[in-house]
Amino acid sequence: MANNIGPVENHRSREGGAIVYPVYSRRSKGLSVGINLFPDRKVCSFDCPYCEVFPFTSDIRFSLTVMKEALHSALAEAAAQDIPVRDICFSGNGEPTLSSHFREALKAAAQIRDQTVPEADLVVITNGTGLLDDSTRTFLQEAALSSGKFNIWLKLDAGTPGWYEKIDRAAVPFDTLIEHIRSFTALAPVTIQTMICAVNGKEPPPEEAAAWVGLVRELAGCDGNTVQSNNNAAGIRAVQIYGKARPAPEDPLAEALPQATLEERAELLRPFLDPAIRVDIFP
Ligand code: SF4
Repeated sequence: MANNIGPVENHRSREGGAIVYPVYSRRSKGLSVGINLFPDRKVCSFDCPYCEVFPFTSDIRFSLTVMKEALHSALAEAAAQDIPVRDICFSGNGEPTLSSHFREALKAAAQIRDQTVPEADLVVITNGTGLLDDSTRTFLQEAALSSGKFNIWLKLDAGTPGWYEKIDRAAVPFDTLIEHIRSFTALAPVTIQTMICAVNGKEPPPEEAAAWVGLVRELAGCDGNTVQSNNNAAGIRAVQIYGKARPAPEDPLAEALPQATLEERAELLRPFLDPAIRVDIFP
């Protein structure tokens, strides 16, 4: 398999049915080998207006055998080109925990990672709705606690139900989702990912920033105005704030906001977290 690994960000191959797609990731600051559990169509429990997955269908079905071969091939290609692999990342065309192959695929990827690139992280990017399912929550919790090289990047775009309805357009009620996220982060660590953009010409309302900061502080284990140390066994490992940087099929419904808006949000949060918890922006 020729992976054409190059210094570009390119996610489009996953809409062409790719199960494994190496990309340069601004999040990981290096090569991220993506695993796509949905090569045939987008499957997600959110309907974010900024979502960059363009409508597509293909006849390709997910195959664990193909995934393992393609992953070995991508890692071999990276090694041949002397390119460090930062992570193997479950993302792709939707919410990975919705796939019936999720667990077996994650276990297989973990095994290949351990054998081939043990320094690389294993990452699951999730909108958190999988936490509503007991067995998925337990599986993720055990995985997160098993190794510091396993990371859950959890979407938290909103601190209020009103903005959540606009920016995530999810069927799951805000309070229900947050309750499950609270329970999870009390026991296992996550990295928070937040998209900040305008929707339908409107920025997040003024009350949104304060509510979001309060929620992240709570999930990080902060109490009142005190700053607490990060417990790596639970809570929050890092916060990543994103701007809208790529085209989306619903453009211009969602629009990028100035970098200063992202930086303001980060500045609002940083004083309340232990300095060990990085708050980075990706405009
Ligand atoms: S959670 Fe991710 S895949 Fe799902 S709609 Fe939102 S951006 Fe798209």
